[in-house]
Amino acid sequence: MSLINLLDRTPEELQALALGWDEPSYRGRQLAGWIYRKGVFDFGAMTDLPGRFRERLVRETTLALPAIARVAASADGSQKFELRLGDGRTVQAVLMPDEDRLTLCLSTQVGCGFACAFCYTGTMGLVRHLGAGEIVGQLLAARATLPSGSRITHLVFMGMGEPLANYAATVTALRTLTSPHGLGYSPRRITVSTVGLVQGIDRLAREGLKVNLAVSLHAATDEVRGRLMPINRGWGLDDLLAACRRFPLPVRQRMTFEYVLLDGVNDSPEEARRLARRLAGLRAKVNLIPFNPWTGSGFRRPPLERILAFQRVLLDAGVTATIRWSKGEDIGAACGQLRTAEQRARRQPVGAAAAS
Ligand code: SF4
Repeated sequence: MSLINLLDRTPEELQALALGWDEPSYRGRQLAGWIYRKGVFDFGAMTDLPGRFRERLVRETTLALPAIARVAASADGSQKFELRLGDGRTVQAVLMPDEDRLTLCLSTQVGCGFACAFCYTGTMGLVRHLGAGEIVGQLLAARATLPSGSRITHLVFMGMGEPLANYAATVTALRTLTSPHGLGYSPRRITVSTVGLVQGIDRLAREGLKVNLAVSLHAATDEVRGRLMPINRGWGLDDLLAACRRFPLPVRQRMTFEYVLLDGVNDSPEEARRLARRLAGLRAKVNLIPFNPWTGSGFRRPPLERILAFQRVLLDAGVTATIRWSKGEDIGAACGQLRTAEQRARRQPVGAAAAS
């Protein structure tokens, strides 16, 4: 009999599991409290659960946390965790301190199948989806390393993989992360990033989760975006931005548009003006990400004055635009740099990217 990984179930589903075992539903809430609030993974230590319930948990279930294989610490204070999954595959999660925030960047797939031309993770291809428990487990594993009194305050689904391409597991993980009986995060502190899967954005809108959405735009024309992001050949900018306009944003919240700045590719003032026109009427903020170079990418980071000029055009057009100087560049943990150690070791040289 294969064991049930309890981390794959939401706290509400743990209550249903308890009921199905002829226990009151509050036993499921107690169980969730041990796992998520107290960080206890040993059934024997869950002392307020009756013995028969604990025995059945031992026989039929498991709490399969990813194991920390390696931690790399950056000079800027961020940490990259290489986490080993049950089948030996690894994924990465990155912890980033910033003033009073401590943000964890989570992965949703091993590798990624979307092949964005500027992204190192994309060169891996998709290896497999993560289960909900493997997504939540990254947080539990990272949390266990923190000194007492320290708390992960924000979560971003911007690590390896495309969250909306692993839709069911992502939504289950989000329910556990936001449930008052689970990890209790306010949805306002969680951001799901997408490459621009229109159907996934519409579906997420209907879930009522109220999490923030970040959309990878990276260009203001279909011609440039199509060269950088193969997904654009399926859903062009008009379709994508229409889905963004339909997305129910909570009051005073803005949608984030990610824009990686590539020297001579998408960083001209004219492209910035086009971008501002595209975003007119949307409650939007643009996150400009100066490209984080990796060997063989074929792209360069624009010079500082060009980055600032791009931002200035957006600001002058009334579009909020910030520059995200990525964390963890020195440990290969910056945006678009994640790739597992095994894959790095096996990596074939990557040809010059299409848009270079
Ligand atoms: S940018 Fe995101 S969607 Fe594109 S290849 Fe990288 S991980 Fe995948």
